[in-house]
Amino acid sequence: MKAALGQEAQALLRAARQTLAEWVEEGVEGEISPYSACPPRPTFTERPSLEAVRTELGECTRCELCQGRRQIVFGDGNPDADLMFIGEGPGEQEDRTGLPFVGRAGELLTAMIERGMEIPRSDVYICNIVKCRPPGNRNPRPKEVQACRPFLDGQIDALRPRVIVTLGKPASSLLLGRDIAITRVRGTWHTYRGIPVMPTFHPAFVLRQYTQENRRLVWQDLKAARQRAGI
Ligand code: SF4
Repeated sequence: MKAALGQEAQALLRAARQTLAEWVEEGVEGEISPYSACPPRPTFTERPSLEAVRTELGECTRCELCQGRRQIVFGDGNPDADLMFIGEGPGEQEDRTGLPFVGRAGELLTAMIERGMEIPRSDVYICNIVKCRPPGNRNPRPKEVQACRPFLDGQIDALRPRVIVTLGKPASSLLLGRDIAITRVRGTWHTYRGIPVMPTFHPAFVLRQYTQENRRLVWQDLKAARQRAGI
């Protein structure tokens, strides 16, 4: 009897640990999710130019991230790109240079695009869901994401790429409209503003967990994105 109770208690403990791990992965926080349906403020015409979006952004102080930034990291690449990559926010190197994805994670992303997909980086467009560096490279907070969102939407409307690749949980959650676990949704197709979206791992995650399996999965996602974009 005692042994049976012990086994039951252990099974319950395992289940509780699993649930906790999933909550952590799905980002349970004490704040209102930015991913729930909250329509972005209409700021632009139906198809603005990237310049118009950048001009409207100005020296933005719409959220607290303006306080710690060196400069705004708007985006980089071809304004007529068929492929758009969206990450979560600038890091230290990006804040220093004003360009997205130029640190170690950026080098890996560039290698994935240029050596893996065989597309020059300058042919795609790369940006983040927030344009200013979150202190200590933390994830952007819901209020910050919402404040910056109209500009991301403006960039998407300006580019109208054939495919968007979201890198990591925050960007994928925003475009999918709900808190997601990236391990569950990567590799599956979704749609945002009428554009096919492929979520995949953030290159920083791949660098942290540099396993053959993770690299294989990202490569699989990128191949699917390239194929769908007809490149
Ligand atoms: Fe403005 Fe976006 Fe920077 Fe916030 S993160 S200050 S909304 S540009």
